[in-house]
Amino acid sequence: MTDAYTRFIRSAPGGALAKQLGLPRPARLLRRDDRPAPVLGPVVVLGDSAGADGIAQLLLHEGHDVRRRFEELRSVGSVILVLDEIASPADLGPLVLPLAGAMRSLAPGARVVTISRPAGDEDPARDAARGGVEGFLRSLAHEMRGGATANGLLVEDDVALEAPSVIGALRFFLSARSAFITGQFLTVSSAAGSATADRALPLAGRTALVTGAARGIGAAIARTLAADGARLVVLDVPGAGTELSRLANELRAVPIQLDVTAEGAGGRLVAALRERGLSLDAVVLNAGITRDKLLANMTADRWDPVLAVNITSQISLTDALIDAGDVLGEQPRVVSLASTSGIAGNRGQTNYAASKAGVIAFVDALAARLEPLDGTANAVAPGFIETEMTAKMPALTREIARRLNSLQQGGLPVDVAEAISFLASAEAGGIRGETLRVCGQNMVGR
Ligand code: NAD
Repeated sequence: MTDAYTRFIRSAPGGALAKQLGLPRPARLLRRDDRPAPVLGPVVVLGDSAGADGIAQLLLHEGHDVRRRFEELRSVGSVILVLDEIASPADLGPLVLPLAGAMRSLAPGARVVTISRPAGDEDPARDAARGGVEGFLRSLAHEMRGGATANGLLVEDDVALEAPSVIGALRFFLSARSAFITGQFLTVSSAAGSATADRALPLAGRTALVTGAARGIGAAIARTLAADGARLVVLDVPGAGTELSRLANELRAVPIQLDVTAEGAGGRLVAALRERGLSLDAVVLNAGITRDKLLANMTADRWDPVLAVNITSQISLTDALIDAGDVLGEQPRVVSLASTSGIAGNRGQTNYAASKAGVIAFVDALAARLEPLDGTANAVAPGFIETEMTAKMPALTREIARRLNSLQQGGLPVDVAEAISFLASAEAGGIRGETLRVCGQNMVGR
């Protein structure tokens, strides 16, 4: 799904005109079908800590072309900057500056990943250095070209760099699955999680529920989780029954027709799962709606349904699933759909932004509630994604919205789905209460 402007710009006359006028020239993003290699080589691991040696060894053992310096490389596929031992801002320069001379050698779709520790409140010089990594990485992401991305991992002090979620998240950021994620950080807060046995089918043996699955991002999530090996339960309103059955047939999934805001929806979901003997390893809370209006024109019939679908239903469904005691598997994963509007706010979306900011706070609290079950809760915050929801926007607003990010294009539903599939996997057990933006480094927000 490519928009008309991008199709024109990629034509020979369009490309020439864009160059002359300095118009945005969005690169073609390589997704997993375009770039099956899980890691683009050669991989340069920079840093002199034991953690850097460990990461380099691990990738080497897997058969990747790993280097510790840029040497005379003409083309670089991936760069991993291991900054876990920086003690003061002066340490940053020698570690990151080797990348300066190699920036023009980065291959199209290249990946840069920093691995560092989060700033705390103990050691001013060390924490200034750690905080500095954030500014460095976010600026670097703005400078990447040709669909290349830069993201960071923040690994808590007591978590080793070989922990399953560090390696899992590193692989995710290095892969084509993170095509529309750039300028973002993910925090690994514990060593929980287990390495994926079959990397081609990371969700094999797991059962996942996706709400709002009949179309758009929900349908893409269901298809991606199924392609990753999960057994699917797909849920949507009775009015979307035809599309839901079609999807269920395609994926051999169990369909459930249910309005998530209906009285007793949680109990009905639990009953439907018990009837079929199903226990969920992953719950993806995707059902969502918009009813945009300026606050001056906002009425309860626009405010209430948005809050009811986008956040209140998530609270009641997860309450029902947890309280039932027999419909969640071991180490359950809940992944919810937030939005960049919930981070930055958006004109005309006081209701929607309230609901999505609510989601961000909700997953943080839910993660704590799921901890005794070895479960996690996280959110994904999409920016501009090409779906029926965004197709309804006024044409000019839509065109501006889709260009206002470092990758100068809208994302695809599959981009959101890929992030969710990673967060739903066994290896993501050390990531909890996080909100990962899938927005191409949208220029709005923090
Ligand atoms: P969409 O409108 O295409 O699909 C939403 C699905 O949710 C539909 O199938 C709908 O029937 C279902 N749904 C709505 N109310 C329901 C209810 N009460 N019970 C059960 N199902 C219900 O939307 P989308 O663009 O695919 O968005 C999916 C999610 O992603 C939403 O939570 C949305 O807020 C979020 N999101 C989307 C974008 C974007 O750019 N499209 C950006 C940020 C966040």
